[in-house]
Amino acid sequence: MLVPLPVQEAFDYAVPDGMDLSRGDQVDVPLGPRFLRGIVSDVFETTGSNRKLKSIERKASDPSLPLGTVDFVEWAARWTLNPPGEMASRALRGLRAPRPKPERRVRRIGMRQPQRATTARTAVLEALQDRSMTAADLARAATVSTGVVKGLVDEGVLEVFEVEAVAAFDRPRPDHAPAVLNPDQAASAKAMAGAAITGGFAPFLLDGITGSGKTETYLEAAAELLAAKPDAQVLILLPEIALTQALIERITRRFGSAPAEWHSGVTPPRRRQVWEAVRAGRCNIVVGARSALFLPYPDLAMIVVDEEHDGSYKQEEGLVYHGRDLAVARGRIEGATVVLASATPSLETLWNAQQGRYRWLKLRTRHGVAVLPDIALVDLRQNPPDPQTWLSQTLREEIGANLAKGEQSLLFLNRRGYAPVVLCRACGHRLTSPDTDSWLVEHRYSGRLVCHLTGFSMPKPKACPACGTEDTLVSVGPGVERVEEEVRQLFPEARTAVFSSDTVPDAEAARAMITAMAEGEIDILVATQAAAKGHNFPRLTLVGVVDADLGLRGGDLRAAERTYQLLAQATGRAGRADKPGRAFLQTWTPEHPVLEALAANEREAFVAAEMAERELGSLPPYGRLTALILSSENAQALEKTARELAAAIPNAERLEVYGPADAPLALVRGRRRKRLLVRADRDVNMQAFLRAWLGRIKIPASVRLTVDVDPYSF
Ligand code: ADP
Repeated sequence: MLVPLPVQEAFDYAVPDGMDLSRGDQVDVPLGPRFLRGIVSDVFETTGSNRKLKSIERKASDPSLPLGTVDFVEWAARWTLNPPGEMASRALRGLRAPRPKPERRVRRIGMRQPQRATTARTAVLEALQDRSMTAADLARAATVSTGVVKGLVDEGVLEVFEVEAVAAFDRPRPDHAPAVLNPDQAASAKAMAGAAITGGFAPFLLDGITGSGKTETYLEAAAELLAAKPDAQVLILLPEIALTQALIERITRRFGSAPAEWHSGVTPPRRRQVWEAVRAGRCNIVVGARSALFLPYPDLAMIVVDEEHDGSYKQEEGLVYHGRDLAVARGRIEGATVVLASATPSLETLWNAQQGRYRWLKLRTRHGVAVLPDIALVDLRQNPPDPQTWLSQTLREEIGANLAKGEQSLLFLNRRGYAPVVLCRACGHRLTSPDTDSWLVEHRYSGRLVCHLTGFSMPKPKACPACGTEDTLVSVGPGVERVEEEVRQLFPEARTAVFSSDTVPDAEAARAMITAMAEGEIDILVATQAAAKGHNFPRLTLVGVVDADLGLRGGDLRAAERTYQLLAQATGRAGRADKPGRAFLQTWTPEHPVLEALAANEREAFVAAEMAERELGSLPPYGRLTALILSSENAQALEKTARELAAAIPNAERLEVYGPADAPLALVRGRRRKRLLVRADRDVNMQAFLRAWLGRIKIPASVRLTVDVDPYSF
């Protein structure tokens, strides 16, 4: 039995006489004084056991989980070392929400006529005919105000009644608005669709430069699949909620019906509807965040992981897992086609493609006349910005020229807020978060100092909290808000906006911003990575990267890979339609291999060099890593547990454990953190090692252990 508790063990319960159960069924089981929802994992006969088992209370009326879903959560729990019951309860998430309120609709009572037949009233009755609709839909259909509908209800011509709100997902129509693919796109779509129609696990890397039509191509593959198998289900994962709206609109245009949407921004009642529709096979296309992997698909035939390299697929809080890796696992379990799409694939995925484990599909050109932007490095040593400004003369001139031509520019800086550091001119004190190892970031729009790790915020104090001197706090360095300020001073006539998770907190705001860009209402957009990914801004022709060195500092071994990906994505926003694009990277280190590779558009050379380094260190993809993070408010207990853990390391070959050392974030929300890092050769059974090791010691209640298999940062 899979029960949502933080333990690795399975639970056994007795099956009451006459209860017919099988794997995947939902049941309520007693645990202490309460009842928990469990998933039946296994049903077996025992003979002569003297163990006194508690009985299952009842079989739930909710639908069972499909076997593939149960196999998947069990496999995922074994791989990630997350508790199996908690993994399983992820698959039930949509069910915990209340059902949506019944829908109130109106219908005609007999053939009664209104006492006064105005044009508006006639329009309503014509729009309604003998159907039923909500008052709002009806008013819209008849282009009248809802007051007209209400008037007819009051008069007894229409009546209001309630129906259970069931989400109706119209079937996607594969022939609704097909795209004409170019030869590379067509060959790729055919390969993916063919594999999905045949069935069986088939992983693909869809490797295409930004704007080459990867989305166009996988949508056509999905269409071909759905034409051949109308009941098949397709899941499309995106790394950011902000990207969902644009894709949903695109799918709606392509298929003539909207897909289901699944992410944390979807209301609970709606999630329940989607869960039930997916389970019942009433919904063929789901667009979602990584958690959509846990939905109970009875007929999953294709999974697309768009922007597969994106670090946001890694969930690091609560259940730790990598959405991309679990997508591949789910595909294997379901016998589905998995499409990993990216212009800058992760080294892990490239390695799998090189080894022939994934079929490698390449899109080498942009669609139509569009070409990749020319990328130039701006050497800040030759061309330094004025003090307290961040844009070099070169970039200023380019933006000015672009503005004069009426074209759009994007300035990319991966830093939210106004200034990343606030320090005291008198004593040098830097303002830090009170309980966390991070600086407070100044936000001018909200007028607060914010900790980006925990969300803690406070107003900017008048006096330095360390020395007490007044008016000595200064803002150091730029964030997007500060760059926008500079742009506004330079180009007062330009229409500017900031795109970051502060100004674009949800899908709705993202849609508004994207529409404003598409309609040319913004001349200069200053943006963090929230806008650098995936978006299609057809009129954007210039991208300026304010600080190309930003991601290259710091000790993370994935820094080069990540910076390459992020800057290729950001610069790739330029020139996606008929006008060519240009990009400028401001840097103090133009000789850095990552920046040289970007400027020369030499991804392969960069990848080869980076792979060679990884191979030398036997790091992923050549080796495997797991991070063990211990955290506690009690520093002594933490030290002691870390020492005990280090002392209990089992003997193992071709595997090393480093640490314990302070974790990269050594203090978060008042909890100190220590890290042990396990490195193993690829063929070592990491999970077996971890299980043996962790089975040897007991972690005290005051210490939390987080196991991060295949960590994103290392
Ligand atoms: P990617 O996902 O690789 O970034 P998209 O699929 O978003 O690329 O395509 C980039 C732009 O080119 C989009 O505006 C898209 O509609 C257009 N496009 C790509 N391929 C085609 C095609 N075969 N026919 C028409 N438009 C296309």
